[in-house]
Amino acid sequence: MIIENRRQLAEYFGVGNVVICVRGEIRTHPIDDDYLDQAISNAIFNHTRCGAWARFTSGYTEPETVTKTWLLDIRRTIVGIQLYRARLQSSSHWYRPENFPPALMDALQYDGLERRERKWYITDPQTVALVVDVLKTRTYPQKYFHLEVDMPITQPIEGVCLTLGSIVEGVEQEATPIPLWFPFESTDLDNALEQIEQECDEIWYSTHGCPDCWTYDRAIPEHEKERLWLVGATFVNPICPTCEGEGIII
Ligand SMILES: [Zn+2]
Repeated sequence: MIIENRRQLAEYFGVGNVVICVRGEIRTHPIDDDYLDQAISNAIFNHTRCGAWARFTSGYTEPETVTKTWLLDIRRTIVGIQLYRARLQSSSHWYRPENFPPALMDALQYDGLERRERKWYITDPQTVALVVDVLKTRTYPQKYFHLEVDMPITQPIEGVCLTLGSIVEGVEQEATPIPLWFPFESTDLDNALEQIEQECDEIWYSTHGCPDCWTYDRAIPEHEKERLWLVGATFVNPICPTCEGEGIII
């Protein structure tokens, strides 16, 4: 199941609606937009053993690759075929190759573009031959040659991100936050929460042992147990009779 937005997420956790009683009649209303984030964050807190937190942010997702048609203006000079400017079919254009978007520059360099001082020249023999051939067919002096190329570029996509995480009481460590950009699969959400639960368990069981966890069955004096515990013998012992393998709140 794909979760497209906050509202669907609220519905997924069963907190998308409020039930109210009006003059003895039970009515269900969709929750107000303003309360969605809080309702979801409460639901995630209650839904997880570790009390995970959830935050929403807007921003740019991982760049996605799209193919765009670039118009490359090329001119022939005595020292070679120079790339003069590049532009998108939209209004965006870059007159100086050094200002080109990095992805375009990478693609051009891959295609045999070479920088000499502030200018860029096409050195790929096939492209040079193509340019020269086309220029030969012109019966009048041609300053520029327009070349259309379809090239994949990466561009950022604006979106909303749900970040999940959890702190473990008593220690500095916390579960590694996991970002999920809308839309996402509900299984990705479940897996992210499960991963956070596991990480919190690992942190808890490696830090929340009680003073008896590793010393209860040994003839160790009380003050020595306390000392051992304080220097870091703090793993939870699953068969500890004192805390019953649960550890203690520190
Ligand atoms: Zn214990």
